[in-house]
Amino acid sequence: MKWQGRQRSSNIEDRRGQRAGGGLGGLGGLGGNRGGIRIPSGGRGSRGGISGLIGIVLFLGIVWFATGQNPLDMLTGGSSASAPGSSVSSRQLPAQGEDELADFVAVVVRETEDLWNEQFAALGEDYPEPNVVLFTDSVNSACGLADASMGPFYCPGDSKVYIDLSFYDQLHRQLGAPGDLAQAYVLAHEVGHHVQNLTGVLPEFNQRRQRMSQEEANAYSVRVELQADCYAGVWANYAGQQNLLEDGDIEEALNAAEQIGDDTLQRRMQGFAVPKTFNHGTSEQRKTWFERGYVSGNPGDCDTFSGNV
Ligand SMILES: [Zn+2]
Repeated sequence: MKWQGRQRSSNIEDRRGQRAGGGLGGLGGLGGNRGGIRIPSGGRGSRGGISGLIGIVLFLGIVWFATGQNPLDMLTGGSSASAPGSSVSSRQLPAQGEDELADFVAVVVRETEDLWNEQFAALGEDYPEPNVVLFTDSVNSACGLADASMGPFYCPGDSKVYIDLSFYDQLHRQLGAPGDLAQAYVLAHEVGHHVQNLTGVLPEFNQRRQRMSQEEANAYSVRVELQADCYAGVWANYAGQQNLLEDGDIEEALNAAEQIGDDTLQRRMQGFAVPKTFNHGTSEQRKTWFERGYVSGNPGDCDTFSGNV
């Protein structure tokens, strides 16, 4: 992607290096913060608080539902991740690399702002731009205290996207999805959730899922997530119109959609897939909807709520 020299968003909150949480200091913070999230024991049936995030985190939320295990432990292959200091030593990117990534994020976010300002203006509406929070290891959000192991997420309570940039290293090395368009796809997907928050899709989802069985809520969540993927595709179309795309970029995004499909992720992490626990969509579905948005460039073609997906 040809992003260098492009304008940057002014809605980036750089909280990297800041400590989150109630007095948990130093390198032991990760273990302590993890206890504060309260997902593992009650995740399956719990309501409210940060459990409300589960349906909208990029993909790792599924691991809580499926196995009750900590996703970070699974991704890193053992419990060593909870040892003090491991959260820091496991970070693969030097600070300089992260600064360039932060610039990249600011550019992509700006391009999403341009796209969605245009789309909302065409409907005679304003587009309140979301803030994007860069954090390290853990962060306080209106949805609760969140850990980097959950992956990037959008919190409707404060209309902010949250990302620990080390996720991009994970995306490349552990999930097999390298490339800057893979990275941009993740951001555009989370911004897609912000758009859904504005259109009412997300509030309706969060209300209706309270009365659903877990299985029904998962199926509903898949439709929400696939629409965000389609919106990410619409963004990729827009990036193409701005001449930002290079050869291989769309393939990078499609590969990312493939690698973070529920079936592929679950097979990688636990050796088998449990379809009724899928809440983001299969690899095939995620690729299909991203591509649909990319080919059409029209968010009106992202209706994932009628008919089969
Ligand atoms: Zn999502």
